[in-house]
Amino acid sequence: MKPDSNKVIELLRGIRHPESSQGIIEMDMVKSLSVTGDRIDFTLVSRKPEDPLLGSLKNACQRAITKQFGPDVHVDIQIEKKQVKGKTTNANALAGVRNIIAVASGKGGVGKSTVACNLAVALSIKGSRVALVDADIFGPSIPRMLGLMDARPVAHEVNGKEMIIPAVNHGVKILSIGFFIRPGDATIWRGPMASNFLKQMIFQGDWGEIDYMIIDLPPGTSDIHLTLVQEVNVTGAIIVSTPQEVALADAVKGISMFRGERISVPVLGLVENMAWFTPAELPDNRYYIFGKDGCKKLAESMNIPLLGQIPIVQDIREGGDNGTPTALAGDSPESKAFAELAERVKKAVDERNKNLPPTQRVKITK
Ligand code: ADP
Repeated sequence: MKPDSNKVIELLRGIRHPESSQGIIEMDMVKSLSVTGDRIDFTLVSRKPEDPLLGSLKNACQRAITKQFGPDVHVDIQIEKKQVKGKTTNANALAGVRNIIAVASGKGGVGKSTVACNLAVALSIKGSRVALVDADIFGPSIPRMLGLMDARPVAHEVNGKEMIIPAVNHGVKILSIGFFIRPGDATIWRGPMASNFLKQMIFQGDWGEIDYMIIDLPPGTSDIHLTLVQEVNVTGAIIVSTPQEVALADAVKGISMFRGERISVPVLGLVENMAWFTPAELPDNRYYIFGKDGCKKLAESMNIPLLGQIPIVQDIREGGDNGTPTALAGDSPESKAFAELAERVKKAVDERNKNLPPTQRVKITK
């Protein structure tokens, strides 16, 4: 089939922006289309200053055109970013944020997101202004854990810059990639796109005044970790682990990464999750399912504070599944464990700020 402008527009109409329910034609993203013989040229214009999906949209257009009109058609797609009108820079975007705390783990499934959520809520209950950024890009669980499955934050303009208004629940301001993509779509997110999205959430979030911004990182060590330490001055990191040997071995890798010479982010402490189980009918008994005091011993051997030991409790799992974190449930032992954790984290941050200079952003030299 020979291409012409109408056919190309009809074809492009079917290409949807993943963050929106609209197609790229409807969003007015296609400009300067020209079709001459077997040559198709146009410009793909982003609707915002940073759009990490622009590259993959360009590829999608290219593939669709070749499929429709055959491999002999020459396609040239230029990319144009929307210009930022205001003078807001990344540095002053976070001017109101006092402390940035990365919550990390060596292994997945040890309860890192559960601890991040409950810590955020417990800090907020104590009167702090708290933000939570879900950087666990490939498995964002924060929307469910904080009862925000249907949240769809919108943007507004501040000083000419488009800022995203975070969702708020249980006193915590929250942004998660889970708000912007459908479950399952995360598979299209590759390294650089995920890193760009993290930057966008941090720097385009309209956070206002915040005492503690908690960043829930993906497990292990990844591009996301590097992006974070290059882009922001991380006050300190908290490592979550179970007391089990295999989890501890990976936790050590995480600690070493933060403490390494190039990254140098202070480790505020370790949190031992799933530390023991106490059956309701035997309230004085503790069963150490994943081993006893593994994190406590690791903390001692690496000279890192142990910030808390959180037991395995059905309420913690249920609270996560139904969006009401255990930290809200005032007087239960597990809620108290999170309240104590919050208190120790506050102290650890104060100590760190008293004794150490602000963390420098990591400069990567190639
Ligand atoms: P991660 O972020 O490390 O992958 P999650 O926080 O998603 O781990 O936790 C994994 C699962 O374990 C979730 O279903 C969560 O509800 C459950 N869980 C985490 N900590 C506890 C705990 N202390 N007691 C009971 N269940 C827990």
